[in-house]
Amino acid sequence: MMIKCTECGKEYSDQAKACVHCGAPNTTKSGGCLKAVIGLVVMVVVFVIIVIALRAYTIDPQEVIDSEAIKECRKAENDELLDISARRLARDACDLMEKRYNEKYGHAP
Ligand SMILES: [Zn+2]
Repeated sequence: MMIKCTECGKEYSDQAKACVHCGAPNTTKSGGCLKAVIGLVVMVVVFVIIVIALRAYTIDPQEVIDSEAIKECRKAENDELLDISARRLARDACDLMEKRYNEKYGHAP
C-alpha cells in the first residue's frame, strides 16, 4: 500500500521506514506498536517475578507460631533450673508437639 508523505506530499510504500523522496520518518510504521508490545511483556515478566517472590516468602503464620512454640518448649526441656521430672515432662510435651508439627506440615520444625 502506498502512503502520502506528511513532509513532501509524495507517495511511497508504507513498508518503508522513511519517505524515499525526502527521508521523513514513516509515521504509520513508527515504533509505537513495538514499544507497546515490549512494555506489555516487561509488565508480565515483572508481575510473574512478584508472584514467584511472594510465594517464596509467604510462610503460613500458624506454622511459624507452632515452630516457635516447639523452640520455647525445647528451652524448658534443657533448662538447668528445672528439676529432672519437670524437664522430662517438658521433653514429652515437646516430642508430642514436634510429632504433630511433622504430621501437619510434612517436615521437621
Ligand atoms: Zn517525503
